[in-house]
Amino acid sequence: MDDRTSGFVYNRVGGSVYDQTSGFAYNRAGGSVYDRTSGFADNQAGGSEHDRTSGFAYNQVDGYVHDRTSGFAYNRVGGSEHDRTSRFAYDKANGFMTMETITADGLMTEFSLERILTVPKKYKYETHMHTMEASACAGSTGAEMVRAYYRAGYSGIIVTDHFFNGNSCIPAHLPWAQRVELFCRGYENALQEARKLDFHVFFGWEYNDNGAEFLTYGLGKDFLLKHPDMLSWPIEKYLRVVREHGGFVSQAHPYREAWYIGEIRVFPELVDAIEVRNTSHRNPIFDKRALELANKYGLCHTGGSDAHFAEYLPGGGMEFDCELFTIEDFIRAVKEGKGSVIP
Ligand SMILES: [Zn+2]
Ligand SMILES: [Zn+2]
Repeated sequence: MDDRTSGFVYNRVGGSVYDQTSGFAYNRAGGSVYDRTSGFADNQAGGSEHDRTSGFAYNQVDGYVHDRTSGFAYNRVGGSEHDRTSRFAYDKANGFMTMETITADGLMTEFSLERILTVPKKYKYETHMHTMEASACAGSTGAEMVRAYYRAGYSGIIVTDHFFNGNSCIPAHLPWAQRVELFCRGYENALQEARKLDFHVFFGWEYNDNGAEFLTYGLGKDFLLKHPDMLSWPIEKYLRVVREHGGFVSQAHPYREAWYIGEIRVFPELVDAIEVRNTSHRNPIFDKRALELANKYGLCHTGGSDAHFAEYLPGGGMEFDCELFTIEDFIRAVKEGKGSVIP
């Protein structure tokens, strides 16, 4: 996680927290606290340089206080819960971070502390994005997209490249198995990059039928390899077979008006969900109509950004209270209404 505004850096893997502005570093896993500027160090495990009884540590030089019991950090001199410049506060027990609830006199009141402790952490996932390995219109690799989303604070992405009937860059003359292999490269490269980070990458695709597009989740490369004739299926058959195999389908941007969409066609009785928010849309009517359609038919909601470039993430996707580790976790959470669409 990298918050550019505050200069705060958090390494989920190592558990280290580092504030670039104040030079404050904190390693959750080892329990060590280290302030680069003042050179003050506090090792919770060893119990050095702090009062073991109260669990409280204080640095007289820079006025830094760290309370082991509550995990709360406070800078007396700077007058804010940790650092006035970055206005950063960190609660170890809850893993919660905030930059906003600091009172004018620099003291965290009981009220604001309580408020902070009750704000749950959210996990953001992108549900609709493309890579240049498979999508002709995309400008970044799977690995570049992972780094961009990770920096933007997301917990994961679902790679949904245009399938062969959409804006694909996979040569059509190749044998089916080879096309499928090439199609999966964006996802696989993203997955490999994500292994270096604490970040999830799931597989999906965006299937096209004369401009109507379907985000297909929950099926893998094996499904594609097993159905080399799928491009000849009428869309009704595609939707039926995919769902019979455990796939979960959200009709993408059903009311988008664009040069490549000849006529608007919706399939509310044949899909599981509707993409009710696509943050690439500039016209709010497209999403408004999509939401009305979903609600009229009692369909699940998904939201995504349709990002094609790492340099430009439109923002969006879905937010969950719990971390999602698999695409099945995602599907279950959406079905149970546990995800909220990021506006
Ligand atoms: Zn595209
Ligand atoms: Zn798309």
